[in-house]
Amino acid sequence: MIHKILIVGPLQCNCSILGDETSREAIVVDPGDDISRIVSTLEQHRLTVKQIIVTHAHIDHIAGAQRLKRLTGAPILYNQNDLPLVQMMDIQAGWLGIPTPEVAPPDASLEGGQAITITGLSGSILHTPGHTEGSVCLYLPQHNLLLAGDTLFAGSIGRTDLPGGNTRKLLKSIHDSLLTLPDEVTVIPGHGPKTSIGAERESNPFFDI
Ligand SMILES: [Zn+2]
Repeated sequence: MIHKILIVGPLQCNCSILGDETSREAIVVDPGDDISRIVSTLEQHRLTVKQIIVTHAHIDHIAGAQRLKRLTGAPILYNQNDLPLVQMMDIQAGWLGIPTPEVAPPDASLEGGQAITITGLSGSILHTPGHTEGSVCLYLPQHNLLLAGDTLFAGSIGRTDLPGGNTRKLLKSIHDSLLTLPDEVTVIPGHGPKTSIGAERESNPFFDI
């Protein structure tokens, strides 16, 4: 599998490009910004985007999705429980002092347990509410890889003080859906360095509360 991580936008969101070497099909996860850099990385690797997945509808993860869709024709997928966040995109833009990006409802909602498949690559969606109601993670068991959005970070957890956030739900999601994964699963959070399920199980200070 081809896996490129691009750090995009002022909040340094980790955008992942997942591609299959044979079919040259790809999934882009969290194209929050810097769409021209994402597109040139796709071209460099001769990849065609088949799906755009957004882990949650915070502006730093979703802002470039519509532009990427227009350039590639790929559908945008995210959980419909984050629609209230999409409807307040002007307020989110105000938090950062940036222009309001064009956003739209998902072409299809992502639900827990849903299979994600392109030619040569498959994974599943874990619905992990807490950071937002519609937060999801993408799990690729064949590659021991979890794209965790803003649910779990190296040594930390997602913030829950923004609209839709709920600490109790976040910890329950992590315990029920993430800590049940094997220790060797690599975790790419929505921001910051990568980690693993084992490392977080061992030392994440938020799991004792
Ligand atoms: Zn977020």
